[in-house]
Amino acid sequence: MKTRRLPLAMQIFIALILAIICGMLLQSHSEFAKAYIMPFGTIFLNLLKFIVVPIVLFSLLAGIISMKDIKKVGFIGGSAVVFYMCTTAIATSVGLLFGNVFERWFPTISTSNLTYKAGDKVSIMDTIVNIFPSNPITPLANASMLQVIVMALIIGFAIISIGDKAKPAVDMINVWNDIFMKCMEMILKLSPIGVFCLLTPVVAENGPMILGSLAMVLLAAYVCYFVHAIVCYSLAVKAIGGISPMKFFKEMAPAMIFAFSSASSVGTLPLNMECSEKLGAKKEVTSFVMPLGATINMDGTAIYQGVCAVFIASCFGIHLTISQIITIVLTATLASIGTAGVPGAGMVMLAMVLQSVGLPVEGIALVAGVDRIFDMGRTTLNITGDSACALIVSKLEEKRETKKSGYIAGSQVEAAE
Ligand code: ASP
Repeated sequence: MKTRRLPLAMQIFIALILAIICGMLLQSHSEFAKAYIMPFGTIFLNLLKFIVVPIVLFSLLAGIISMKDIKKVGFIGGSAVVFYMCTTAIATSVGLLFGNVFERWFPTISTSNLTYKAGDKVSIMDTIVNIFPSNPITPLANASMLQVIVMALIIGFAIISIGDKAKPAVDMINVWNDIFMKCMEMILKLSPIGVFCLLTPVVAENGPMILGSLAMVLLAAYVCYFVHAIVCYSLAVKAIGGISPMKFFKEMAPAMIFAFSSASSVGTLPLNMECSEKLGAKKEVTSFVMPLGATINMDGTAIYQGVCAVFIASCFGIHLTISQIITIVLTATLASIGTAGVPGAGMVMLAMVLQSVGLPVEGIALVAGVDRIFDMGRTTLNITGDSACALIVSKLEEKRETKKSGYIAGSQVEAAE
């Protein structure tokens, strides 16, 4: 007999509610929750981190080699990067703008006993140099996502240039891509347990009160996520992609719900590709642009960084100047590029944004307790942006192909005459 199972996103959502209830019940035993429930959440996070590098590497490689043409890869990749950068810069500005509007309602939390340890500060030039790997193992071992992308590009271009001789490598890459996608599917089946075990200790330790005190900051971020999706993506998919925004959001709903509950762009990748292809994105575009987007395109994360920067500054009694605001837009755009699409990654990058304008990084501790709630919304926006980009780039590529074939047909007619 066939048993009907709840869709995974629904299971995760139920886990989320259960985690809040159990967290509240365990408030007087938060040590227990931390010691015995949290480790299972950490196992789930570790598994997600384990799969991120092979998924991104092999899906990018498979995407690049499926195009068989370096110029095409250049056009598709170039258009996607321009779209990603522009929308992320807009997203940070929206975050800062709404952050300033909501500032008067933000709570003023005492900052005297905060601690948060940020990583070392790196200069812009070092950041650029660090994009290029000096050996093929370290990027994979350290999950340096930008280096992994560069590796995929170099190897992919070489495979395309060699042509037929590389056939065994192409087959191998496609098979490994399928294998890692299957691994991802298996790991994602554990997400209801993972989500429950990650969230219960947070609620047990901080109580629902933490939600209350940060409610306005969360609201500001969610209003921005909403506005950015409705205005920016609707306009983009309608104007360039020729798709009605209603249809876009309707078809994207399963991927968006999944992203909301799993808080991982990379985890949502297979489902997001499926939804985008249903909307008309070409497979060769989704398989290149979307793993790239799951790594470098983070509009939700950029918004979160903008809103949190304003909130943290206000708690420290600092008012941001215009030059600090411009610096935040630039660094948040760059910071979101290097963020891997796994839960909590954006919070680590917030340190870079705060440091760039001299705000105290300890301020992150103010929002760390509710990071998961910010993360669910920002991941949903992140993956929606990846899909909008795939649709737009597919359209642009289609136009380019038509123009090219029209040009070839025209020159053949001319030659015949
Ligand atoms: N969880 C986000 C994502 O996967 C990254 C972040 O933490 O902002 O897209």
